[in-house]
Amino acid sequence: MVETVETGEEKAPKAAPTRRRPARARTAKPKNAAYRFGVLPMPPLDYTPEVAAETAPLYAKVAHVIPAIEWPIHAPYVKAINDIKKQRGAVILAHNYMTPEIFHCVADIVGDSLQLAREAAKTDAEIIVQGGVHFMAETSKVLAPEKTVLIPDGEAGCSLAASITAEDVRLIRRRYPGVPIVAYVNTSAEVKAEVDVTCTSSNAIEVVESLGADTVICLPDQYLARWVASNTKVKIITWKGSCEVHERFTGDELRAYRDADPGVTIIAHPECPPDVIAAADFAGSTAKMVDFTKSLAPGSRVVLVTECSMADNVAAEAPDVEFVRPCNLCPHMKRITLPKILDCLLNLTGEVVVDETVAARARAAVERMIHLKN
Ligand code: 13P
Ligand code: SF4
Repeated sequence: MVETVETGEEKAPKAAPTRRRPARARTAKPKNAAYRFGVLPMPPLDYTPEVAAETAPLYAKVAHVIPAIEWPIHAPYVKAINDIKKQRGAVILAHNYMTPEIFHCVADIVGDSLQLAREAAKTDAEIIVQGGVHFMAETSKVLAPEKTVLIPDGEAGCSLAASITAEDVRLIRRRYPGVPIVAYVNTSAEVKAEVDVTCTSSNAIEVVESLGADTVICLPDQYLARWVASNTKVKIITWKGSCEVHERFTGDELRAYRDADPGVTIIAHPECPPDVIAAADFAGSTAKMVDFTKSLAPGSRVVLVTECSMADNVAAEAPDVEFVRPCNLCPHMKRITLPKILDCLLNLTGEVVVDETVAARARAAVERMIHLKN
């Protein structure tokens, strides 16, 4: 059972939450991290025979999805980033939606939101470069406050994170006293600071059930909340947020793929609307989608109903699976590119700053999730 909360009675009406522009990232003045660690000069970016030879093993990993003609553009950046990363003692985290030249060629840690959050908490590196969107970089900073966390493009937002504010959560708390609040990690640190625990699409059902309550508020994604509600007896109250990438898929579109190819396996992200999930064979977080795809027999044909780079990244590792590609690009994830990662490592731009009081409260909510057995 699911109900959607609106807080319009308590305050002035506002634009529909899902249509708000993603919030501009709050980043420190570049001089802060640059002052602490110093800037480095731009290395040469020519595609020489030496660069070709040194990057050949990395190209072999992505040759299935990056045409040979494009490699000379990526290779000098790949080499420069890997060199400077070592020199800086930095680590690059990459979400499953990063393009293959980032995901397979410069990232140290890859995965879904939950895996990246866990690894950020554990890393010994002084500098963390977040290949992903701003809420992910903030989560890393919240979990590793003593580290320097950099995001290569501070404008890489998220329609879900932009759909709700800390004030909205405080109003919801007043409206439903005593009802526990779970926030999807796709929220700002200020929102996380107001909730009892966070969740990702990997563990949302387990987190909701761990609270032992009859009713739980699960925000801000109405579709993730509906998916949780359809998998639990707990009554779910949700918010009207949505992912601008996943809400564009339709059940009709998926049924047309199945009609055209009855043997196809359809795998959807739980941020998709309910009719899309109903038309799929499996729904799960990006990491669970990857695992499910890898478990299929060679020669399987798969539709990954999610962001486009996922299929490229899995295809590089599972060349025997054929991907049928209705996919949508996330414009925020696609702001992260090799040249911006290089600039970030050289000049230490895009430092993520979270107010310490907010960070301490947000950390409690994220750590409660991380320490759940799942
Ligand atoms: P995951 O938690 O499945 O990695 O998804 C994050 C995200 O932003 C999906 O759109
Ligand atoms: Fe946000 Fe959707 Fe992009 Fe994920 S895919 S970062 S939920 S806008």
